[in-house]
Amino acid sequence: MMSRREEVSTPRRTKELIQRHGFSFKKSLGQNFLIDQNILSKIIEAASLDKTKGALEIGPGIGALTEKLAQQAGKVTAVEIDQRLLPILEEVLEPYPHVSVVHGDVLKLDLRELFERQFTDVTGVSVVANLPYYVTTPILMKLLEEGLPLEHIVVMIQKEVAERMAAAPGGKEYGSLSIAVQYYSEPELVCVVPHTVFIPQPNVESAVIRLSVRKEPPVSVEDEAFFFDVVHASFAQRRKTIANNLKSRFFPKEGRERLQQLLTEAGIEPSRRAETLSLQEYAVLSNVLLHAGLK
Ligand code: SAM
Repeated sequence: MMSRREEVSTPRRTKELIQRHGFSFKKSLGQNFLIDQNILSKIIEAASLDKTKGALEIGPGIGALTEKLAQQAGKVTAVEIDQRLLPILEEVLEPYPHVSVVHGDVLKLDLRELFERQFTDVTGVSVVANLPYYVTTPILMKLLEEGLPLEHIVVMIQKEVAERMAAAPGGKEYGSLSIAVQYYSEPELVCVVPHTVFIPQPNVESAVIRLSVRKEPPVSVEDEAFFFDVVHASFAQRRKTIANNLKSRFFPKEGRERLQQLLTEAGIEPSRRAETLSLQEYAVLSNVLLHAGLK
């Protein structure tokens, strides 16, 4: 028998648990488990947890990160889609009564209801996870758009997606994802992570990113849905100017001059490209287009 105190994330204990429970990895569920203490410590540190705080983990796997969260936070709730992992989690998390495992698809769960049920006695909640890469963006957008009372979101994701989320205007990584994430949070790249810290090893590079969730957006937007509509339309074809992209969306037949006037009113040179506009400029632009009745 293995010592009870050996951490789940050691390669030896991970392999032993997987073998003893007859578990086989499902690529379609993004199952790449962490086996590196150093990276786990970096994730935990970035989440700034203590016993007054709660943590929501998405996809606990066999509990490598869950165990660490349990040692730091006052309450941990972990949502796992794969029923085959539940008996392993039950065994591994047995010493931690303040950890609950919820079986389900995080994209289908009513998170507000889950928060009200699970996090009544804590002073703040953060999401901490090594996310399944096939659904990273939908999960993060769900967390951000639902306006949940979150402090931080600290997640391991594909490096390229992390770079897009944290990108500043002007570069090729900057796009509608950067704007959406930065509207709701302040992103910060924590570290880049080599393939070797997972079993099985993923084909893509990974990174840990920390999103500090904003209480209020940093810009004044009069109609959020329309603001995101304008942002998406602006990036429809990256090689085109902002005037051409907006024309296709808002004035498909005529109205080039009117559009030029509105862009000028918003202080934006019509020959610029979408990737050069700041969050503030998109806010002003969407308010101007809204007032012009283009919604
Ligand atoms: N946290 C573990 C670790 O770091 O070793 C496992 C991380 S693994 C990258 C992703 C986990 O998310 C897997 O356990 C997978 O079954 C689970 N998962 C995949 N899709 C999910 C979904 N829609 N809702 C909840 N969990 C999901």
